[in-house]
Amino acid sequence: MMKKKIKSVISLLSVVDRLKNIYAGGAVMYSKRSRKIHPYVPGEQPSDRVYIKLNANENPYPPVPDFKKVISDFDYSLYARYPDPECGLLSEKIAKLLNVEKDMVFCGNGSDEVLSFVFYAFFDDDKPLLSPEFSYSFYPVYSEFYGIPLKRIPLAPDYSVDLDGYLGGDSSGVIFANPNAPTGINLSCEYIRNFLTRYSGDKIVVVDEAYVDFGGESVIPLLKDFNNLVVLRTFSKSGSFAGGRLGFAVSSPENIGVLKAVKNSFNHFPVDILAQKLGITICENWDYYKENALKIAFTRDNFSRELKRLGFDVLPSKANFVFVKKTGIPGKTLYEIAKEEGFLIRYFDIPGIRDFVRISVGTDNEMKGLIEIFKRNFSRL
Ligand code: PMP
Repeated sequence: MMKKKIKSVISLLSVVDRLKNIYAGGAVMYSKRSRKIHPYVPGEQPSDRVYIKLNANENPYPPVPDFKKVISDFDYSLYARYPDPECGLLSEKIAKLLNVEKDMVFCGNGSDEVLSFVFYAFFDDDKPLLSPEFSYSFYPVYSEFYGIPLKRIPLAPDYSVDLDGYLGGDSSGVIFANPNAPTGINLSCEYIRNFLTRYSGDKIVVVDEAYVDFGGESVIPLLKDFNNLVVLRTFSKSGSFAGGRLGFAVSSPENIGVLKAVKNSFNHFPVDILAQKLGITICENWDYYKENALKIAFTRDNFSRELKRLGFDVLPSKANFVFVKKTGIPGKTLYEIAKEEGFLIRYFDIPGIRDFVRISVGTDNEMKGLIEIFKRNFSRL
């Protein structure tokens, strides 16, 4: 009797508590899952003044001028209808560009979204997913989000990804960026082929080629030999389309089929109707983008030489950014000097890479400006 009374008082109190929360705007109950997440932190976008933004690996060159016509000719009444859920024409154009079959392409709302589908589709919670100790910082975020244990394998002493460390022991798959981020170091296609021949053929290996167009070597030619290979690409970097959100995976039709099933369990229509059209325009004008990527690679190499002259250690980058440090000056100080002078660069407050800054490659003039700033400030340090 007494127990019953206590129980009903407790349940009454919890109802009162809930009502109090609703009416007083107090804390509401969130899921246990959401209380545990540690979201990805992108490069800052402050609005207190105009900055030269070299902190998010964006492309300094605008999209191809044809964009203007495609946008002005766009029949806006189409926005009343849903877009093509499978991005049919766009997938066809991408497939042609990459010399693969159309059913080997899966498009999504930026490669971050494609990555989330990849994590859900291919990796389980009972064995660790292997990834470099330092790589794209979204991988640990998705691992945690989906409850997939992540085993981070140390980089080689020269900061390259050492794939020998991924053999032996049980795993549910492998993911790394190539060129890697934030180091910019590229592995050759032959080296990755050699790894794939030794790694378990029934587990997915994801090679994230977000930066490959700036001088890296793609593993797309290996897709015909390895059914467990998934290549991830984006138009955010070499395609000057970070604002348009278009990324894609390339893999066997069976793997792409699984990604489509996962996509259709989250969001049937992830790619906006105009983004699909503009993505097609990018494919049709790929020479323009290739030329810009070459210009960026040229600027990167000049900038790297200048930094070395100033006493920086510069990792050999094949991406549109460089990862550099200067002995005696913490990464945070370099970041602060640049910010004070109107340049945003990125530093990571993480043990092992605290001394470094990651600097995206802008135009020639922007990089010359940053060199001048370092020169001027080092003389007073
Ligand atoms: N992979 C890597 C290695 C990246 O650095 C980024 C960009 N932050 C992405 C994927 C995601 O790019 P997006 O979502 O813009 O396609």
